[in-house]
Amino acid sequence: MEAIVDVDYLVVGAGAMGMAFVDALITAAPDVSVAIVDRRHGAGGHWLDAYGFVRLHQASAFYGVASTLLGGGRTQTEGPERGLHERASAAEVCEYYARVLARLIATGRVAFHGLSEYEGDRRFTSSLSGRRFHAPRARLVDARYLSPDIPSRTAPPFAVDDGAHVVAVNDLVRLAHAPAHYVIVGAGKTATDTCLWLLGNGVEPEAITWVRPRDPWLLNRAVVQPDPAIFLGMAADTMRAAAGATSADDVFFRMEDAGIMLRIDRTVTPTMAKTPTLAQWELDLVRTIDDVIRRGHLRRVAPRSLVFADDSTVRVPSDTLVVHCAAEGLKYPGLRPIWAPEAITPQPVRVGFPCFGAALTGWVEGTRDADVEKNRVCRPSPYSNTPTDWAAMQTIGGDASLAMSGESDLRAWSNTTTLNPVRIPPERAEDPAVLGATARLKEHIGAGRARLAELAGLAHP
Ligand SMILES: Cc1cc2nc3c(=O)[nH]c(=O)nc-3n(C[C@H](O)[C@H](O)[C@H](O)COP(=O)(O)OP(=O)(O)OC[C@H]3O[C@@H](n4cnc5c(N)ncnc54)[C@H](O)[C@@H]3O)c2cc1C
Repeated sequence: MEAIVDVDYLVVGAGAMGMAFVDALITAAPDVSVAIVDRRHGAGGHWLDAYGFVRLHQASAFYGVASTLLGGGRTQTEGPERGLHERASAAEVCEYYARVLARLIATGRVAFHGLSEYEGDRRFTSSLSGRRFHAPRARLVDARYLSPDIPSRTAPPFAVDDGAHVVAVNDLVRLAHAPAHYVIVGAGKTATDTCLWLLGNGVEPEAITWVRPRDPWLLNRAVVQPDPAIFLGMAADTMRAAAGATSADDVFFRMEDAGIMLRIDRTVTPTMAKTPTLAQWELDLVRTIDDVIRRGHLRRVAPRSLVFADDSTVRVPSDTLVVHCAAEGLKYPGLRPIWAPEAITPQPVRVGFPCFGAALTGWVEGTRDADVEKNRVCRPSPYSNTPTDWAAMQTIGGDASLAMSGESDLRAWSNTTTLNPVRIPPERAEDPAVLGATARLKEHIGAGRARLAELAGLAHP
């Protein structure tokens, strides 16, 4: 027997996207009712299964929901990131989402169905009680569309022979004895974090082999800060770099020269441009690892050897631990209109910053009626994977920002939340540093956006 859930919205996914959407919707339209469904036991999504030493790679202020600041907006006063804004740990992110969910439930307008599997057609089943639910009149919100794959929930993408020691990154915090050697598999942020954590805990660089099929471009965290003078200054330098670039790779070299982009090995041209942030101290530390293998994807791990996609084999010491950090991470399922008859699908709107995109989507849903109008003012933008994708992301995200900021109420709303990286707090509006950065951006944005559109093979308005 199915239980009927009589709500206006059925939101599948209580991760960052789902929570940002619901929080903004409830703020904009306090009379609507929402049911949130998640197969996990609480809110927070992948953070509930994150490796123990992970932190946000961006400032906490950029993350979370629009109504509630994650953290205290503090600047770090000690340690290698002195002067940069605080970055929450996974535990802090999860505690934050638990608090946000409790507040939403306390409004009496939101119900949470944890440990429940969404099965399509507005139906879901509790994995605890086995009870089945149906929300026949609800508008469906698909907040799992960009859900990232993570190592703790994804099998290693390589074969493991008997006798070989392979763990997912999450298991590193439970090691009982130190192996003689580590092999870190992955080219993304998780693999970089893992190398940093091992080195930070006394493991010698010589005891680490890094299997890095692709080299990443990384954003310099010092210029991606919730400070309009810094962020707008970075945007201006980015547009100036793009305006004179001869290719997508050249945009990145010019941004590297401008201190915006970083790469681990300056003799290698990176082909990956997912561009998470990294700090200079982290870069200096991971550069101490010399044993880097670039032979394509790892295909098989045997007790004393690694076999690669190019059929080559590398010998490793007997007591080697292979650490799986090779889940896909960000997803690229393709853009879809955020509003469609079958579902509302939150996606990033301005370049990156997915939480802002999902919050804006919730606000637009709560303040407008016609889907065609909502899609006009709130358009999706993609994540990037390669330098050329990055140029496309900048172009599509830039167009989406223009469409959004053409609406005075959305401009006003977006300036109230720290999720918006270009927010200018009222007390900084006359700050000469902010005015200077804004003027420089205005100077370069036209030529920069035109060149990025060309490099991405996209029409430029
Ligand atoms: C380690 C890591 C660090 C990151 N750091 C940052 C950062 O600092 N800043 C930043 O902006 N981004 C960061 N990201 C990017 C990240 O993708 C997004 O920020 C965001 O957390 C993704 O949230 P989501 O809601 O899309 O997905 P998820 O967190 O995966 O949430 C989707 C939810 O949907 C649920 N679900 C899926 N299918 C079903 C179903 N059939 N039934 C019921 N429930 C279902 C899942 O259980 C999950 O809880 C990071 C990503 C990773 C992996």
